Amino acid sequence: GPVFAIVGRPNVGKSTLFNRLTGSRRSIVGDEPGITRDRIYGEVRWNGHTARLVDTGGIVPDDEALIPSEIFRQARVALEEANAIVMVVDGRTELAAPDIDLARLLLKTGKPLFLAVNKIDTVALDATAENFRRIGIHNLVPISAEHGHNIGDLLDEVFAVLPFGNEEAEEEDTEPEEPAQEEEAAAEKPAVHRTHGEFEQHETRVAIIGRPNVGKSTLLNTLTGTTRAIVSPIAGTTRDAVDEVIEYQGRHLRIVDTAGIRRKGKTNLMAEKLSVVMARRHLEASDVALLVIDATEGVTASDATIGGYAHESGRSVVIVVNKWDLVTTGRTDGKPPADREIFEEQLRHSLKYLDYAPVIFISATEGRNIHRVLDAVVRVAAERRKRVTTGQMNRFLERVDFQRAGVPLAKKMRIFYMTQAAVAPPTFVLFTNRQVKLHFSFERFLENQVREAFGFEGSPIWFKVRARE
Ligand code: GDP
Repeated sequence: GPVFAIVGRPNVGKSTLFNRLTGSRRSIVGDEPGITRDRIYGEVRWNGHTARLVDTGGIVPDDEALIPSEIFRQARVALEEANAIVMVVDGRTELAAPDIDLARLLLKTGKPLFLAVNKIDTVALDATAENFRRIGIHNLVPISAEHGHNIGDLLDEVFAVLPFGNEEAEEEDTEPEEPAQEEEAAAEKPAVHRTHGEFEQHETRVAIIGRPNVGKSTLLNTLTGTTRAIVSPIAGTTRDAVDEVIEYQGRHLRIVDTAGIRRKGKTNLMAEKLSVVMARRHLEASDVALLVIDATEGVTASDATIGGYAHESGRSVVIVVNKWDLVTTGRTDGKPPADREIFEEQLRHSLKYLDYAPVIFISATEGRNIHRVLDAVVRVAAERRKRVTTGQMNRFLERVDFQRAGVPLAKKMRIFYMTQAAVAPPTFVLFTNRQVKLHFSFERFLENQVREAFGFEGSPIWFKVRARE
C-alpha cells in the first residue's frame, strides 16, 4: 500500500502526530532496538483507505551538532519510501535553519509535500500560516497534534494524493453492496478524531516510565486490577489497541502503550538504553508521567536521564518509589530499614529539576498506596490545565518585590505585565521593554513565586519574553 512519511527537526511534535494519526498501531522495525537505525511504522486508516506511515524520528541526537545529519538521514528515508511527505514545524517558534535546509531537500524530490504547522493551539492561525509560507511548501495545514485540531484536514489532503492501488479498488468493485464490516467501521470511525476536544476534560493520558525491572508492568497490573477497566471510548483503538483505559473518580485514565510497558528486556545496557528511548516516546503520547524508581537501588544515572526528559517534555510528573516493602522490613542485605524522609531528601537532590513533582512510596506487588498514585494523577492533571487570569497575574506581579529578593533582572529590563498564554504546561509570557533572555536565577525565583501563589503541582512552568513594540 502507499506510504507517507513525517519529517522534521527534533521537538516539533513528530511523535505526537505519529501517535495521533496511527492511534498507537505501530511496530518497531529495525536491526537493533535503540540504535539509530530503528524505523517505526504505523497504520493510518482514513475514509476507508489504509496507508502506512513511516516515522523517521529514530533517536533524536542530544548533541545539537548532530541535528543536521539527523535531518539528512530522515530526508533520505522519506525519499526512499514515501509517496508523500509531511514536514512538521513548530508553529510556536521561529523557523530554524534546519527547517529551511530540510524543506530545500524535500522540494528537490518532486514528491507531494505538506507542511504541518504544529502547536497552533496558542498561536493565531493566520499569522502562523504567513510566517511559514517562505519555506516554499504550498500545501500548508496548521494543526495541533496534541489536541487533534485540523488533523482530519491534513489527512484529507494527504490521502487525496496517495496512490491507492488496484487491490483496494478491486475489492470495492467485487463487493460494492456489502463491504466487509471492518472496512465499514473504519470508514465511519477513522482512527483520528476531528473533534478530539470533547474527550479532553474526561481523559488523562498516563505514561509509566522508568528503567527495566523497577516494576512498571507490575504497577500497570496493579492499577488495572484495582480499578474498573473500561472499554476504550476512542474509535480506532480496538483489538490491536495497546492502551488501557481505567476509570478513577469518574475520570478516564488512558495508560499509553501498555504493550511497550510489558515488553520484557533483560537488565543489560541495551535494555537500559531502550528504556530511555521508550520513555521519550511514551512522554510524547501522554499528559502525566509516572516516573518509577526502584527503592532498593535509589536514583541511578538512568533515572536522572529519564527524569530530565520528563521535565523537558512539559508533561506533568508523579515520582513513584516502588518496592518500598523491600527496604522497610526484613531487609535481606543487612542494611537498616530505610527512612522515608532521608530517601526523599536524597531523591530530591538527584532529581532537582523535578522539585514540583509529588513523590509517592508504594509497593506495587502488595498494592500499597496505589490509590495515592491515582489521586496524584488526577490532581496534577487538573493543575496542568489550570488558568490564571491576567488580572490575578497583575495583582501577583505587584506583590513580588524582585529588588528585595536580590534576583538580577536583565539590564534596563522592565516588565509591563504578564499573562498566561497556554495551559498544559502552564506557559506565561512576560511583556517587557526589551527582548532579553531571562536570567536563570530570576526565572527560578519567578517560578517559585508563581507556584507559591497558584500551585501547578506536578507540572513544569514555562516562561517566555515578548518585547512590546
Ligand atoms: P519492569 O521491567 O519495570 O516492568 O519491572 P517488573 O514489573 O517486571 O518488575 C521487576 C521485578 O520486580 C519483578 O520480579 C517484580 O515481581 C518485582 N517487583 C515489582 N514491584 C515490586 C514491589 O513493589 N515489591 C517487590 N518486593 N517486588 C516488586
